[in-house]
Order: sequence, then structure tokens, then C-alpha cells
Amino acid sequence: MKPHGPIPPGFSADPDGMLLIGGARADQLAERAGDTPLFVYDRAMLTARAAEWRAAMPEGVLLHYAMKANPFAPLLAHMAGIVDGFDVASGGELAAALASGMAAGHISFAGPGKRDRELEAAISAGATLNLESAGEAERALAIGARLGIAPRLAVRVNPDFDLKGSGMKMGGGAKPFGVDAEAVPGLVRRLIDAGADWQGFHIFAGSQALDADAIADTQAQTVALAARLANAVGAPPPLVNLGGGMGVPYFPGDTAVDAARVGARLAETLAARDPVLGPSRFAMELGRWLVAEAGVYLTRIIDRKTSHGETFLVTDGGLHHQLAASGNFGTVIRRNYPIAIANAFGADPVESVSVVGCLCTPLDRLGDQVALPRAEVGDLVAIFQAGAYGASASPSAFLGQGPAREMLV
Ligand SMILES: *Cc1c(COP(=O)(O)O)cnc(C)c1O
Repeated sequence: MKPHGPIPPGFSADPDGMLLIGGARADQLAERAGDTPLFVYDRAMLTARAAEWRAAMPEGVLLHYAMKANPFAPLLAHMAGIVDGFDVASGGELAAALASGMAAGHISFAGPGKRDRELEAAISAGATLNLESAGEAERALAIGARLGIAPRLAVRVNPDFDLKGSGMKMGGGAKPFGVDAEAVPGLVRRLIDAGADWQGFHIFAGSQALDADAIADTQAQTVALAARLANAVGAPPPLVNLGGGMGVPYFPGDTAVDAARVGARLAETLAARDPVLGPSRFAMELGRWLVAEAGVYLTRIIDRKTSHGETFLVTDGGLHHQLAASGNFGTVIRRNYPIAIANAFGADPVESVSVVGCLCTPLDRLGDQVALPRAEVGDLVAIFQAGAYGASASPSAFLGQGPAREMLV
């Protein structure tokens, strides 16, 4: 028997033991959606999460949403009203961000390999490009000159450190992301000399960290690096995007980030910052921390079978919607996501079962030998932390099962 990750706080059942999401019964949500599998996102939880962040962080720090975590249009429109900006990473995301109602001036566009038409779309809309290389900078300047627009340009810095304990390291050493720190001052001077509207620095050192002090240490290093670069440039960056890094508990033993501690230490870091950063504003860009907990993936049990003494619950969902929960999205060792039987939520576990998807591959395992209440064909399985890197980060065309339904409640 293997443990599963912690069920996020804030979920409860009605008197029948049916999981409630956004106040509605999981079975009724599936009915309303027309069928399972289904992602449900709870609007009130999203709002509460943003409020929790603002309560924890120092006054004036801006909250950006990294929309690759979840680009579902109704969710994006909701996020547009509760965060200060969106970070996008493709021309497609830029179009979705603009359609959501977020003002172009509050959108920044990072990511390697931006094509000329994507640079042009951002420059003509008035979004900020987080430049990933000197070559990209020259292309952006040329497009700005051709359009007669001073492009809004920030430089993404490849920092000379990374976020300790982070699930995905995005800085330190040779990286496809950003401009190596030592080359940044020269590039910024080039942008300013060319008449661009220089927006500042974007410094992203890693993702999915749970240790508040590791995040705070990285932020302190980030602010120090921004100050060194600003002194070398001889001008204050209008905005320093500190990156993100705040993760969520997916696995047994994981605990939530102490956001209040991150905020308290960031306040100290900013209070002690180099005078060159006096006029600068600061932002954090968060994906999963803002949206993962608000999402639940609901899938129905199609078959219950045993093989060599192991019980399998075969569902209508799978890794084509929940690649991360199957352990195939950047994890080294497969461990169980938080999982429950939605119609027996909170009931005591009575058996060890493996919950698998309907894809004809042994990779398609949503729960491996987990302890769950007794479940039968027709029952609903709920997988939590499904609001980030679920529907849009999974190979929904694989094996022709088609995409999941999604709804915001
Ligand atoms: C993916 C990404 C994020 C969001 O990461 P989360 O772990 O979801 O918070 C933020 N910034 C950049 C540059 C990214 O690539």
C-alpha cells in the first residue's frame, strides 16, 4: 500500500459523502458538464488564493499569473480581474491573454524561440517582451523600427544561481532561457540607445519549491543581482520580475509553502535594497501556486477487475488529461497525487487499489496501490491539485480519447 499526496484544505462532502466543489456536488457537476472526465475549477478558491498572496506580501509588489499553468478561457477571464498582470510564453497565449480582458501593458511575453510574427504581435499590442537573447533583441528592435513603435522590452536574465529544492531548475549554468548575467548590462544599454522603452529585468530561477526560506534566499539573490546589473547599466529598472517558485504539495510528506514567511523576508529584502533600485517596482509571477488547488479532475470508474491479486479501478480518464498525476511530466520517481473517491469523500480507506486510465499503455496510472474506500463501477474518482498543468499540459490527442471537459464554478 502506498500513500497519496495530501488532499488540499477547503474540500468537504455533503451529508451523503459526496465531494463538494464550489458548493456543488461532484456528481451534479459531471451531469451538468454532460459527461466525465471533467476538470472543475473553483472560482472562489482562486480569488481566496490571490487574496492570501496579497495579505502575505509587502505592499506594492505586483502579482502576475503565468498562464501556461492553466489557459482555460473562463478561468483566465477570472484571473484578469484578480491579478496585476499575465506572463505569456507564446503568440497563442498572448492572444488568449488579450482576449481575457487583461490590458496589454500588463502582459509580458517570455520564452525562447519567439518568431517574428509573435514579436510583432506583442510590439503592436503594447505588451512587454522579455528578451531571451541578443539576437531576439535585434529582431525586436528592427520590428519596432519598421512599425514606428518604441517596443517595450525587458531582459530576461539567466541568473548565476538556482532555486534550491525546486522541481524544475530554470537558471544557473548553460540554459536556453535568458541572457547570461554578464552580457546583460551591454544589452540593456543597446536597447536604451536604440530608443526602446526599457521595462527592466525578468529573473526566474526555478519552480515548485516548498521551502519558504529557499524561496526567500533566492529572492534576496535576485534583488542583489538586479542591483548589480542596474548599477552597471547606470539606470534603475522600472520593473524587476522576481520570478516565482512557490510550489504546491503534490506528494506524501509535502507541506504547503509558508507564504507569510516568504512575504516577511521579501519585505526585509526590499527594505534593505541597493538605492539604485529605489524607484523600481517588483513583481512575482506564479502559475501553479495560484491555480492548482482550485482544480479537481473527475473521472468515472468504468471497470473493476483483479489481476494476480491486485485490484484495478479502470477509469474513463487518464494521462491524456493528467500527465503529471501519472508521473510522466518531469518527475523522476512516480508517486501518488492526492486522490479520493468523490462519492465517498472522507470515508475510511478499506482496500488498496490501483487507479488506471483507459489508455492502452502501462504508463497510464493515476493512483498506484493507494488506500481508498470501496468503489464500484459508476463511482467518481477525484484527483486534486488539478488546476495547473492538467488539461493543457497533457497529450489529449494520444490514443484518440479526446480532451476532457472543463468548467469554472
Ligand atoms: C512556468 C513558468 C512560471 C510558472 O511556474 P509555476 O511553477 O507554475 O509557478 C513562471 N515563470 C516562468 C518564466 C515560467 O516559465
